[in-house]
Amino acid sequence: MPHMTNKSLVKRDLKVVWHPCSQMKDHEWLPMIPVRRGEGVWLYDMDGRRYLDAVSSWWVNLFGHANPRINQALRRQMESLEHVILAGFTHEPVVQLSERLVALTPEPLTRCFYTDNGSSAVEVALKMSYHYWRNSGQTQRTRFITLSGSYHGETLGTLGVGDVALYKDTYRPLLMEAITVPSPDCALREEGVSWEEHSRRMFAHMEQALAEHAHETAAVIVEPLVQCATGMRMYHPVYLKLLREACDRHGVHLIADEIAVGFGRTGTMFACEHAGICADFLCLSKGLTGGYLPLATVLTNDTVYDAFYDDYATLRAFLHSHSYTGNALACAAAMATLDIFQQDDVIARNRQLSAHMLRAVSHLADHPHVAEVRQTGMIVAMEMIRDRKTREPYPFEERRGLRVYQHALGREALLRPLGNVVYMMPPYVISEDQIDHLAKVAEEGIDLATQD
Ligand code: PMP
Repeated sequence: MPHMTNKSLVKRDLKVVWHPCSQMKDHEWLPMIPVRRGEGVWLYDMDGRRYLDAVSSWWVNLFGHANPRINQALRRQMESLEHVILAGFTHEPVVQLSERLVALTPEPLTRCFYTDNGSSAVEVALKMSYHYWRNSGQTQRTRFITLSGSYHGETLGTLGVGDVALYKDTYRPLLMEAITVPSPDCALREEGVSWEEHSRRMFAHMEQALAEHAHETAAVIVEPLVQCATGMRMYHPVYLKLLREACDRHGVHLIADEIAVGFGRTGTMFACEHAGICADFLCLSKGLTGGYLPLATVLTNDTVYDAFYDDYATLRAFLHSHSYTGNALACAAAMATLDIFQQDDVIARNRQLSAHMLRAVSHLADHPHVAEVRQTGMIVAMEMIRDRKTREPYPFEERRGLRVYQHALGREALLRPLGNVVYMMPPYVISEDQIDHLAKVAEEGIDLATQD
């Protein structure tokens, strides 16, 4: 076989692969990066160039690429069982993983239902909530309340409860209609108002929606603390506290989509811990397997579980399935990931790293074209803006974020902005020097992208 280069592999790729979240025509001029291997925070292309994975490969990677401990767990699992149907059959990895997840999450959560990606976990939570009410004789609860700017996946059900126009608008005629409440997004707070005060004030909209719609609502669904895909929009934990209390008062479920923020990303194992609350449905994926294999789970409580538990002929069962439900290899990767959390005091180190991340970029808050620098745990974001005073954004067609991305590639970094929002959400094994490098590259990129 001739030695493969970036060029030769990309040529073959562009003939047969249709890439996600991409206008394929861009690749007439935008280089596709073929990755030969990964090691820690680094990705190496076919020509030997390297890139620091500042976005954890779409927020999934926690402990670096080709992590020796996860590799070993997978090798071991592979020797005995790769996968088995999970209806009527079970296996040790899925039992153990469920025991550990139940132990890690607040007490009311006692059951894990598995799927194989984040979107399908959200679909399960939506269906289970609706179905719970139906099994309880409340067939009128067919609606969901969501926050503006929220993102819960790309399938039709999850687009229905999402609110990112770029992904949603085209498919609107196919989607269920959610009740959308203004987000507590603290980037929009008035000057001098704290995150906490802004989040409290914004809760009035949720309270009103619940007062109006609780009778027809199955659940409220939120991304706790950070609305990632819409541009790392952040809010204060007090909002979650108020939401839990209001959902209880109005008799509506709470779905916490921690697919992006779970597993240490916000400075606690799960984001809801900041508010000391527990959702009725907790959706987890991404970091669950350390970024190795597609796996997701929805945790719920006994009250929900019991409403489905009956004689078969009553047709109250949750007859939802995916072929790869509870895949044994993915469960083994997830357990190796949890082992690392246990052995390495990851959360404490993340707190130090996140303080360093903020230190490294905080001066950008004074940049003439940066609206704000915001942070929650291991996520920092810098929003580029045309005019700080009038808050005039850059039009999306100008693709300023893409300029940052292109600059970063030439400086050994994979920074992939969300529109005009440049952010770092790196693997937890990143060093302080590497954070400093990313901060420098981000600054250069922002300077370049906002020149004209
Ligand atoms: N929910 C949230 C909060 C997410 O960030 C994502 C993925 N970015 C999803 C759901 C969907 O997960 P997946 O891409 O695995 O379908």
